Amino acid sequence: MKRLSIKMRVTAWFTIVMLVIATVMFFLMVENRIRQVTNEAEQSLIKNVTDFSGGMSSKQFMRVVQEDSKTKNAPSDLSEPPPAPEKPDDNFRKPNMYGKGIHYEVYNEDGELIMGKIPFDFEDTQFDDGKVRTVVSESEKYLVYDKKTVMQDGQAVWVKGVTNLSASLNAVNVTKTSDFLIIAALILIAAAGGYLIVKRALAPVQKMSLTAQKISTGNNLSQRIALGEGKDEIYQLANVLDNMLERIECSFESEKQFTSDASHELRTPVAVINSECEYALDCAKTGEEYNESITVIKRQADKMSRLISELLMISRMDKNTLDVNFERVNLSELLEAVCDEQRELHETRLIVEIQKDVSAMADEMLIARLFINLISNAFDYGADGEYVKVCLLKDKENIYFSVEDKGIGIAGDEIERIWERFYQVSKSRNNEKGNMGLGLSMVKEIAQMHKGNLRVESEPGKGSTFYFTMPQNV
Ligand code: ADP
Repeated sequence: MKRLSIKMRVTAWFTIVMLVIATVMFFLMVENRIRQVTNEAEQSLIKNVTDFSGGMSSKQFMRVVQEDSKTKNAPSDLSEPPPAPEKPDDNFRKPNMYGKGIHYEVYNEDGELIMGKIPFDFEDTQFDDGKVRTVVSESEKYLVYDKKTVMQDGQAVWVKGVTNLSASLNAVNVTKTSDFLIIAALILIAAAGGYLIVKRALAPVQKMSLTAQKISTGNNLSQRIALGEGKDEIYQLANVLDNMLERIECSFESEKQFTSDASHELRTPVAVINSECEYALDCAKTGEEYNESITVIKRQADKMSRLISELLMISRMDKNTLDVNFERVNLSELLEAVCDEQRELHETRLIVEIQKDVSAMADEMLIARLFINLISNAFDYGADGEYVKVCLLKDKENIYFSVEDKGIGIAGDEIERIWERFYQVSKSRNNEKGNMGLGLSMVKEIAQMHKGNLRVESEPGKGSTFYFTMPQNV
C-alpha cells in the first residue's frame, strides 16, 4: 500500500484526535443535559404536586373531593360529609387536574381513585410518599411523585403527580442530532484548515527535496534551495544546506581543477621525454648527442618525480592520512641548516637573523618544508645583486618567522591567488626553473596544521616579505 504523505498523515492524526475529543465532549455534554432536564423535571414535579396538595385549604379540598365523588356517583371513602359551606358560592373553585406538563390524580387512603385521570397508558398502584419514581411504559419514561395529605377531619388522601419525561428528553435528542452535525462540520473545517496549514508549513521541505532530487539526478551542483530570509528552523536548515552545497560545489570544482592542472603538468614532461626519445632513436648518432638527450630526459623525469611526490603529499594532507609527528623542535637549529643548504644552491646574498633556542611543538619535516619553500621562492623571485633576509624571533607565546626579498614582487590582485594550487603569476618564467605552483598551497596547509598564520606584504618591482607566526605550543 502506498504510504500517505506527511501532510496527509499529520492531517489524519489531527482529525482523529479532534474526533475522539469531540465525541467524548459531545457525550459528556448530552449526558449532562439529560441529567439537567431530568433534574429540572423532578424539581418542577415536586414543587407543583406540593403546591397542588397544600395550595388549597383542607376544608376546600374535602369539598372538592366530595363534589367529585358525587359527580362520579361513586362511593367515597371520605364518608363523612364535609361541613356545609356557610355560603354555597364561597371561594370554592375546582382545582385544575393538569398544569405545567403535570397530570394529577387524587386517591383515597385505600388507593381508590377519587379525582382526576392520567391519560397515559400505565398502571401505577404504588404510593411512596415524598419520593420521585421513574416508571417506564411502552418505551416512554414518566416521573411519578406521590404526596400524602391529611385532611382536617383526620382522613388522608394521596395526590399523585405524573409528568412525561420522554417529551422533555425528546427536545434534548432533537438538539443532539443538530449539535452532532454542527460538531462534525466544525471538525471537517478544522481538518481542511489543518491540512492547509501543514501544507504551507511543509512547502519549504518540499522545495528542499525537489532541489536535492535535481542535484542527485543531474550533475548540476549550482542548484540552491534559496528559501530567502526567515526565522524558523526550516529556514535555518535551508540556509545551512545552501551553505553546505556552496562548499561542496567549491571543493568539487577545485578538485576538478586540481585533477586537470595535475594532468596538464604531467603531460608536458611526458611529451618532452617522448620527443627526446624519438630524436635519440632516429637522429642521434654521436655519444654527445645521446648524452644531451638523456640529460633532457633526466631533467623531465626529475620534474615529474617532484610533482608526483608533491601531489602525493597534498592528497595525504587532504585525506588527513599524512603522518604528522608533533614534538618539540629547535627551530633555530633547523632554520640554520636550511639556510646553509639554500646558500649553497643560490648565488644571491642571504642575510640570517635567528634568535637562539627558538623552539616550538611542530612536525620537523613539515616545518622544514615550509622554511625551504618560502626561502627558495625568495631566491627564485628575488633580484640578482640584491639579498634575501631570513628572521626568526620569539616572544612568550609565539614564534615569528619572515623571509624578505628585493625581487619582482606581487601585484595586489594576485596576492590572494598565490595560495591556490597550481597558481603561478607568470607561467613562462616559472617553467624555466621547473616550478609548478604547488609550493605555497602546501605552505598554507602546513601553517594551518600548526595553528599558524601566514601573510605577505609585497609591492611589484620592489620585493616581498612573507610572514609566518605560530604558537610555541600547538
Ligand atoms: P611556484 O612553484 O610557482 O613557486 P608557489 O606556490 O611557491 O609555486 O608560488 C606561487 C606563485 O606565487 C609563484 O608562481 C609566484 O608567481 C608567486 N610568488 C611566490 N613567492 C614569491 C615571491 N617571493 N616573490 C614574488 N612572487 C612570488
